[in-house]
Amino acid sequence: MKKILIANRGEIASRIMRTASKMGIRTVAVFSGADRKMPFVREADEAVCIGPAPSNQSYLDIDKIIKVAKSKKVDAIHPGYGFLSENASFSAAVQEAGFTFIGPGPEAIEMMGDKLAAREVAEKAGVPLVPGTKSAVTDPEEAMKFAIEIGFPVIIKAAAGGGGKGMRIVKEKGEFASQMKRATSEALNAFGNGAVFVEKYIENPKHIEIQILADKNGKAISLLERECSVQRRHQKVIEEAPSPIVDTELRRRMGDDAVRLAEICGYESAGTVEFIMDEEKKYYFLEMNTRLQVEHPVTELITGIDLVAWQIRIARGEMLDMKQHEIKPFGHSIELRVYAEDPTNDFLPSTGTLSLYQPPKGENIRVDDGYEQGLEVPVYYDPMLSKLIVWGKNRDEAIAQMLKAISEYMVEGVATTLPFGKFAIDHPAFRDGTFTTKFVEQYFRQEKLIEANKSRAFAAALIGLHHYTKTVNTYRPIKRTN
Ligand code: ADP
Repeated sequence: MKKILIANRGEIASRIMRTASKMGIRTVAVFSGADRKMPFVREADEAVCIGPAPSNQSYLDIDKIIKVAKSKKVDAIHPGYGFLSENASFSAAVQEAGFTFIGPGPEAIEMMGDKLAAREVAEKAGVPLVPGTKSAVTDPEEAMKFAIEIGFPVIIKAAAGGGGKGMRIVKEKGEFASQMKRATSEALNAFGNGAVFVEKYIENPKHIEIQILADKNGKAISLLERECSVQRRHQKVIEEAPSPIVDTELRRRMGDDAVRLAEICGYESAGTVEFIMDEEKKYYFLEMNTRLQVEHPVTELITGIDLVAWQIRIARGEMLDMKQHEIKPFGHSIELRVYAEDPTNDFLPSTGTLSLYQPPKGENIRVDDGYEQGLEVPVYYDPMLSKLIVWGKNRDEAIAQMLKAISEYMVEGVATTLPFGKFAIDHPAFRDGTFTTKFVEQYFRQEKLIEANKSRAFAAALIGLHHYTKTVNTYRPIKRTN
């Protein structure tokens, strides 16, 4: 494999290129008109503009991407995450055109992309499932009967769902019919497939997932867990590895389940098996993501394994050369997703130009970013600016390191999740590891950040005033002596 095309943008395109160039592989970037000035375009050995800003005319256009792959004579295509990464037709089209797809085959993507089909495989593999309907439900009465049987609250989910979309929590019987109607129409609009199913809603859960790698020989291995319970809109904001509440025995059981699931579906490449865990530490299968995850760096920092390098090696036909018992967590890693979002305004996207952008630097700090000062954050794509990742010898050190790194991260021009990160990571419920996916709802009040911002602005104004009076005072006598 001498040359690969990266069918993605921003930080993940840059991150894949870093590993590719270390492995002596040349890279081709494809970009939209909105991304012309982005670092990943410059960092690639070659770059081709494939269309205007809207994703369906650029990053989601399979034909255009394949055409570039042919004209640039690449050997393989890496899809990154998001966009076409979990699109079975893309994986198939890449292979049909004679290129290697750096990821699993279309069958595994298709099977795991449908949450109901994935539940069926998980059941076959003996992985615990959240009680739920076995097939899609269309008749509201039948669905309601089932909800009563498993007991409220329940969650209605889109079978084809993803990205935290298409989910409705139903607290009581009276709300069921209207919520089901909304869930179905949301699913149809967002995913072009109105199929929904009903699951028991786990109260105060933790989101814990297992990273796996599987080779073409059907051998899979667990690269341990990540905890991703700090979420907004059912989407992750802070992730860490290892989880503060998972011990060696639980880690082994969850890992074994994830490996069994991967092996039973003939999985190949990197993948993630997501679980939800209740207050008694009982865990249940949620879904499997058949791609590299946004939060993969925390796993890399505690295992020392480059996941992108292994995706490439597996795609080249290499076999896994590590043994399960050799994979042990080393130290602790935390990641904060730095989104251009305003945490003082319901985490709404905040667009604008990065008038100041200075990421922190230093030992045990890794910033995977896709932007630089002066660039505009386009409205067309996911508003993630970067991922701030730290490593410490233990969790307390990682927390201290993260708080220091956040305070050194300078961004102006757009609002970001950095102040939220500081609030969350410094919170007693985060520090003691008891936090759940309800963290934001339970503890976060926008007013607290607004107050903190005000006092910071006040302190900055005082410093400015002090500086001003000092200069004025020292200026005058100098002037007089002149
Ligand atoms: P998506 O594919 O959209 O990301 P997931 O099924 O992975 O959806 O769930 C995303 C998040 O939604 C979980 O991390 C969790 O916070 C919440 N969630 C999903 N299912 C349940 C459930 N049965 N009980 C409680 N929370 C849930």
